Formats: sequence, structure tokens, C-alpha cells
Amino acid sequence: MLQRFAGREPVVGRFLDLERSGKLGQSYLFVGPDGSGKELTALEIARLINCADPEACRREAACESCRKALGFQHPDIQWICPAPASLADAEVGELLAAKAEDPFHRPSFAGSSEVLIGDPDRPGPLTIRSVLQFLRLKPFQGRHKVAIVGDAHRLRAGAANAFLKTLEEPPPGALILLLSSLRGAVLPTILSRCQRVAFEPYPREELARLLVDLYDLPPAQAADHALAADGDARRAARSRLTLSRALRAWARGLVADLDAGRLGTAQIAAEMLHKGSVPAELLAEAADGVTRPGVAKELSERRDRAIQLCEQMHLHYSEILGCAARGDGWEPRLPRDAALIADLAGRRTPAGLLRDIDAVEQARREIDQSLNLGLVMAVLFQELSDHVRLDRAAARA
Ligand SMILES: [Zn+2]
Repeated sequence: MLQRFAGREPVVGRFLDLERSGKLGQSYLFVGPDGSGKELTALEIARLINCADPEACRREAACESCRKALGFQHPDIQWICPAPASLADAEVGELLAAKAEDPFHRPSFAGSSEVLIGDPDRPGPLTIRSVLQFLRLKPFQGRHKVAIVGDAHRLRAGAANAFLKTLEEPPPGALILLLSSLRGAVLPTILSRCQRVAFEPYPREELARLLVDLYDLPPAQAADHALAADGDARRAARSRLTLSRALRAWARGLVADLDAGRLGTAQIAAEMLHKGSVPAELLAEAADGVTRPGVAKELSERRDRAIQLCEQMHLHYSEILGCAARGDGWEPRLPRDAALIADLAGRRTPAGLLRDIDAVEQARREIDQSLNLGLVMAVLFQELSDHVRLDRAAARA
């Protein structure tokens, strides 16, 4: 659970000061490149100016209002972004849940949609007309109604016109925060009605600190991500996520190879880990076409990679064991791999799986002790392959 939105602190501080001194404006446009923290800053301002216990909640959410804000469920905070008109309510619910889990989450449709105006009688949840309805009501729980509109350059004339009067003269206590990475594409009628706040890309050290803060990364690793992301916090966060996904995919492949008796493939993997390289198709998957240089560098940190791969294999074997032991009561922790795991669980014995887990733990310890990486992994894969054969022999006997 999030404790706060990692907004840009100087901007957040400035807004809180303005609010305290009664000088807060009502319509702002945050302008700056992708990943410069506009959205997290807006969300953090919305949370803190509605907070019920600012002393307790300055760094970590403690009050109910803050917890609702972080969960994208606050009745006085509305966030919208460009969306296709066909979006169902359930999909909006999923989107808000995904944002609550990872505020860097950006739905894939945002890049190709407009900010919708919405039907006059029944505006959908991600529309300008829903924002207007929302702002018209008095604050329900907090002090301010805050509307956050992402990608304001994707407001076309129709939606913008519906919005202009409210932007110019918002209801008392309302705060409207528009966000845009393309100032030149924001309609002049909108620009002229907002105070502008400029966002710069994150300085490298600040971004590294943010990554340590958010994801508990070791400082050296955070510094590498920060360097590769070029000041873009969203990209840095994504490269970290795609990296663990790629390693998980590699671990899944190895577990399946070993089960199928393809020891040779696993030995090639040991060799690659030793040399600090990775399979090209995984690099492509991890990079997602966005962060290839950063991910490549990250994956080349040999020992870290091998340890993370061991952790992912450990997770897989634990899941197979869990599935074998609990049968129908099993709740998969790796839903994407559930079919493979259930399949393997049907062919292995709990004793064999426990031996697998021991072997992976042993290899992990040896990597920590700086033993020869390639050799440790080769021995591990040989042992895992032997365990499979022992189980098969036991099944035949
Ligand atoms: Zn609070």
C-alpha cells in the first residue's frame, strides 16, 4: 500500500503554503516532459490539502482521507485522462485500481484517445462533463474538490468549450489541475485561463533517491536506472518492472526446460549468466521498445542478475510445491504461470521439490560468497535436472 505520492516536493510545498495563507489559485496547468512528476505532484497536492491530520500524514498516510486519496477512492478528488468512448465502468474501476497500485501506470489507450466530453445526460466517469458535475457538488469529506485532468493537450474544442466557464470561474473551494507534456498543443483558450507551473526532468540524483525510496533498490542499482532513464521517472519505474518480468520469464523457461530434460539449454543459461549476457528475446521483452540500453546495462550486473534469477526460480518451485501440496485449495501467486505450475505439480513429488528448493537456496548462498558464478549455476541446473529424473524413476517404480 502506498504511503504517499512521490510528487516534486518544492511544488507540493509551494501549494501547501499558498493554501495555508489563503492565496491558492483555482486553475493551474502543469507543463513539463513525460515522467517529470506532474501527475504524482497533482495527486500529492490533492491528498495533502484534504488531509485530516497533516502532522501525522506529511510523509506517510495515516488518516482516512489520505488513505482514500492514495486508493483513488476519495470522494473529493477526481482524476481523469484521455479514454475511448467505449470504455466500460468496470474497466474504469480496473484502471483506478491499477493506478492505486502503481501511480506510474498509464493505460495504453491514453496515447491514442481524446479527453472525452461525455454525454450531457449520462457522462461516463472519465469525461469533462463528469468533472463538471463533480465540481458542482460541495466537498463531501475534505476541504477542496480537486479535479486532475491528464494530457490536457488532448482536449479538443468541444470538450474544452464545455470546460471554459468552469476553468475561468471554478466553484468556491475547487482546485483544477490540468497536466500536459505538450504545451504547444494545449488550446489557447485553456492556456489563457490557467496559471502555469513548469516541470523539469528529474535531476539524476533526485531520481535515484526516488527509486530507492519507492522500490527499496540498492543505491548503485537505482543510480544506474536513473542514468538510463534520462530524467524520466515513469521510464525508470517501468525499466525496473520490466526487468523483474524478464527475469521471471527466464526462470519460468528454465524450470520448464529442466523438467523436460533439456539440460543443455540450462547449461547455456549458466554460461550466459557467467558472461553477463542474456537471451536476446528476453532483452526485447524487458526493454518493451523503451528502455533497452538501461535494461541491458542492468541485466549485465552479473551477480545481481543471477541472485534475482535464483529468487524467481525459488518462487516457481515454491509455487509448484504449494500446488502439489494443496491441490484444489491452491491460490496461485503467479497467475500467468498457473497452467505450467499445475502441470509440473502433477508430475513431481514433494520430496523432489523440496530438494529443488534447497539446491536453489544453496546456489544463492554460494553466489553471495562470490564463488565462480558459471560453475555454481551449472551445478545447480545439473542437480535440478537430476531431481526430475529421480522423481520420474520413482513414479515408474
Ligand atoms: Zn492525512
